[in-house]
Amino acid sequence: MKFKLLTIFPEILDSYLNDSIINRAVIKKAIKVEKYNLRDWTSDRHRTVDDTPYGGGAGMLMKVEPLYKALKAINKKSKVDPKKRKIVLLSASGKTWTQKLARQYAKLDEIVFVCGRYEGVDARIKKFIDIEISIGDYVLTGGELPAMVMIDSITRLIPGVLGNAASIEEESHSDVNVLEYPQYTRPAVFEAEGKKYKVPTVLTEGNHAKIKAWRDKQLKEKR
Ligand code: SAM
Repeated sequence: MKFKLLTIFPEILDSYLNDSIINRAVIKKAIKVEKYNLRDWTSDRHRTVDDTPYGGGAGMLMKVEPLYKALKAINKKSKVDPKKRKIVLLSASGKTWTQKLARQYAKLDEIVFVCGRYEGVDARIKKFIDIEISIGDYVLTGGELPAMVMIDSITRLIPGVLGNAASIEEESHSDVNVLEYPQYTRPAVFEAEGKKYKVPTVLTEGNHAKIKAWRDKQLKEKR
């Protein structure tokens, strides 16, 4: 899986990409992340990517030409079957990102993320993308974190990325209406503020049938 990020802050996600499961996925070659600086497709001395909105209004908008030129160059370089690739515009007003979508996207070969900044993008760029995705009903300063959220949730679904495949089968949202059961680790009794917090006895007794029955009972219907 190749992730391509079009952004004006190409270095902003490096520490996340260079650690833990995502980094291991890069080393295993399960994923590859390429960053593209939008300013490389500007033609003026100041490498301008934004301008004021027609009709007035607060803030600046990302200009359509650099975005278009960048996408064209990225598309031209791609060797992936167009059916196995998506161009995503991160947008607070897009389709909400879900685990179900993450499972679908994990089957693709390439995803291009267009990361907005300022007050967003010139709407004409929407003619050159496949989908607008929102990671939730709130507004962030840029599309880089939403892209990272998508990359993270997709990467852990790619076969071989997680050490234990069962992790993704049993966790929250693996089934549409299910959230994960409560989990505990040592110590069996945790003391704080004069109280004792005990791990449910059934989990400490080693009876796997009983543990499964307890966990099944605990699985919560989605709120
Ligand atoms: N004016 C825009 C609006 O009202 O929807 C918000 C622009 S926001 C400050 C700048 C950029 O951050 C957006 O273009 C988008 O790329 C990204 N962004 C902000 N919130 C997001 C969200 N919930 N999901 C995905 N992307 C988001």
